[in-house]
Amino acid sequence: MIYPWQQEQWHKMMQLKQAQRLPHAILLYGEEGSGKRDFAQSLSASLLCKQSVQTGEACGRCSACQLIAAQTHPDLTFLKPVPPENSKSTKPVLNIRIDAIRKLCTKLTSSSQFEGYRIAIIENADRMLVQGANALLKTLEEPGNQTLIILVTSRPHRLPITVRSRCQALRFPYPSEATAIGWLQTQGLKSPEIALKYAHGAPLTALYQHEETLQHRELLAKALTAGLNGESSLSYAAKLAELPKDLSLNWLLDWVNDLVRLKNTNFNSAIINEINRPHLNKLAKKSDLKRIFAYNDLIIEYIRKETIALNLQLIWENLLISWDSL
Ligand SMILES: [Zn+2]
Repeated sequence: MIYPWQQEQWHKMMQLKQAQRLPHAILLYGEEGSGKRDFAQSLSASLLCKQSVQTGEACGRCSACQLIAAQTHPDLTFLKPVPPENSKSTKPVLNIRIDAIRKLCTKLTSSSQFEGYRIAIIENADRMLVQGANALLKTLEEPGNQTLIILVTSRPHRLPITVRSRCQALRFPYPSEATAIGWLQTQGLKSPEIALKYAHGAPLTALYQHEETLQHRELLAKALTAGLNGESSLSYAAKLAELPKDLSLNWLLDWVNDLVRLKNTNFNSAIINEINRPHLNKLAKKSDLKRIFAYNDLIIEYIRKETIALNLQLIWENLLISWDSL
C-alpha cells in the first residue's frame, strides 16, 4: 500500500525501475509509524509482479502476487528481530539473528526461482549485531544481478556507516496534520484529531493504537461491570493478563479515580470513563471509600513490581475479586 504521503518516494523508485537503474540496496528511514514497511512490501511486490499496473504497483492477481500474499514467494525474504531461543523474559532483548542473515546472504547469491528479482526486506535493521552487519556487508559489496536489499529503520544512526554508505537512502517524514487527519477519516476513525495527538503525529500508530486501545479498554469495562450484571468477573482475568501490564493497570486506576470523584462530588463530577457513568454510579453507591483507597494502593504496588516476577493472571483474579467487594 502506498499512502498519500509517500507519492514522492514512490515516483522516484518507479522512475529508477523504468530506467532499470534501481540500486541493489535501499535504506528506508524516518519516523516510526509513517508506513516504511508497507512501502518496502509494495516496492517488492511491484518488482516481483508479472504484470504491474500503470502506477507501477503490483496487480495483486498474478501467480507471483498470490505467492506474495500467502507469504510464500521463494524470492522474497523477510527478516526482523526475534527473541532469543528459550527466552522466558517478557521483555527480551530483540536482535536480528546472525544465522538468519547468513542464510539470507546465501539465498541472495544463489539463482532466482522465478528468473527475476531476489529481494530481502530487513525490518528494524538497526537491530543487527556487529557480526550480522558484517555478514550482510559482503553481500552489499558484491551484489548479484537483480538483487535488492531493503533496510527499514527509524534509527538509521545505529546502523554501521559501512552498511549505510552502501545503500541509497530514502527518507519518510510524517505527513502534515491535514493529510494525516484526512487519511484517518477515510479509514473510518471517528476522532482522528485526538488519535493523531495521542500518537504524536504518526498516522499508522494513530490508526492501530487507537483501535487497539479502545478494544482493550472495552474488555476492562466488561470485566469491571460483570458483577453488576450478575456475571462472573473472574472469567476475564486470563484475557486481561495478556494486555500490557502497566498500561492496563493505569486504565484500572482511571476507574478507581472515577469512583472517588463520583463519591466525593455527589455524582456530579466529570469522569474519564464517561461512557460507563451509569455503571460507575451504581458501583460508587455500593462501595466504601476506605476500601477504594486501599485498592488504589494495591494497584500502584503492582505497577511498581517487575512484570517478570509476577503471575499476571493471578494478579488480575485478585484485583477483580477485590473490585467486586469494594
Ligand atoms: Zn501481480
